[in-house]
Amino acid sequence: MADYVVSVGMEVHAELLTQSKMFCRCKVAFGGMPNTRVCPVCIGLPGTLPVPNRAAVEMVLKTALALNCTIAIDSVFHRKNYFYPDLPKGYQVSQYGDTNPIGYDGYLEIPTPEGGTKKIKIRRVHLEEDTGKLMHLPGGGSGVDYNRAGVPLMEIVTEFPPDIESPDDAREYLVQLRSLLVYLGVTDGKMAEGSVRCEPNISIREKGSTQYGTKTELKNLNSFRAVQLGVAFEAKRQAEVLESGGTVRQETRGWNEATESSFLMRTKESEQDYRYFPCPDLIPMHFSEEQIERVRSTIPELPLAKLQRYRADYALSDYDAGLLVADRDWAMFFEEALELGGEAKAICNWMNGDFAKMLNESGQGAMAGGKSHPERKTSLVRPEHLVDLAKLVSDATINGKMAKEIFAEVFDTGKMPSQIVEEKGLRQVTDTGAIASAVAEVLASNGSQVEAYRGGKESLIGFFVGQVMKKTQGRANPQLVQDELKKQLSGD
Ligand SMILES: [Zn+2]
Repeated sequence: MADYVVSVGMEVHAELLTQSKMFCRCKVAFGGMPNTRVCPVCIGLPGTLPVPNRAAVEMVLKTALALNCTIAIDSVFHRKNYFYPDLPKGYQVSQYGDTNPIGYDGYLEIPTPEGGTKKIKIRRVHLEEDTGKLMHLPGGGSGVDYNRAGVPLMEIVTEFPPDIESPDDAREYLVQLRSLLVYLGVTDGKMAEGSVRCEPNISIREKGSTQYGTKTELKNLNSFRAVQLGVAFEAKRQAEVLESGGTVRQETRGWNEATESSFLMRTKESEQDYRYFPCPDLIPMHFSEEQIERVRSTIPELPLAKLQRYRADYALSDYDAGLLVADRDWAMFFEEALELGGEAKAICNWMNGDFAKMLNESGQGAMAGGKSHPERKTSLVRPEHLVDLAKLVSDATINGKMAKEIFAEVFDTGKMPSQIVEEKGLRQVTDTGAIASAVAEVLASNGSQVEAYRGGKESLIGFFVGQVMKKTQGRANPQLVQDELKKQLSGD
């Protein structure tokens, strides 16, 4: 088989987190009864006039700035004309042209496995409106729900020739982009609900060739994993087509999650002519320098910058820092704990360890009012709990095993760890006299093991430690127990 390289262009659509739709005052929400959030404007009745949503325009501007784009000081909305039942007006309001989108010629940096970064060039960031949804009716036939029609939609398209050259790149690009959008507060980022939708176009060419192959577009990818698997599958499928003497056809393919394979949806004979023209109902947009600077000033520290800062300032591993940064609420929780005097590594270990696991198991969230999961119950564990717990461990008031038990109680009750220690008298035994006598008792009642240990079976040290911990109800300082055991075992 020849050596092929894959190239991936990405089109990402994000539904914007506005209160109302793009050109009318209908509410933006997920689910609900079909056609209950519609009005004459968004179902395109004649005689209505659209009024652009200022918040949506500024969200796209903010995203374009965060993606290092050139901003189109003046830009217009176009009508993209085509006929399909999910489009009530017969056209979709969008933005056409190379330098007309709100943002163009930008880039997003993604981390590489070697610890560096790679720039993925962005061709355009523009604003448009979403379409309705066709649905199959239970009794047969199809219906259309226009609740989604007119919801503000942002499209972000990568540059050609593509910088994305592997399934891993494709996944990482989407991970970073989604995370950035959530940090900016412009989308809730829910891929499973279609708030962020990704349509990669994939082609392969022989290594060394400058001629790009025919692209296929992939749809229905609703997780990061699906994007990675989908790109890998398409690259392999295209290679097999070429190897068997065939040609890759330009087509749109769907992703089947269950079989982890793609299937033909439709063949593209030629590019459809959308007859774009400036929408006569909408006045051109203009951004002043002041407006751009005001929006720029609302951009928070972005995920990649945060990741690099956590690595550098707190000596956290890529993996640990990545977990903390992946969710903005989670990162804020971490930073709040540090502001309260928490030690970074210890706080990180609790968060990425027991805390994350228990949140997951209980379906709770770490922060109140999280935009991405408003339905979740907020955990009783606050940053100050972790700070307190980490201090109890670092000043040796309790040992690691006790800390885990205490944390479980904090999670259930919201009590402060130091209060639990006081109430239950859980202080770690560090009195060397008490430990020495517990060790002596254990050795006296386990004569044969002592003999075996002295005969060279040193792995038995674990057994002795276990016995002493049992005798002290788990409260002895394990290091002191170890030291005392070694001392007494080598003694006589
Ligand atoms: Zn409406």
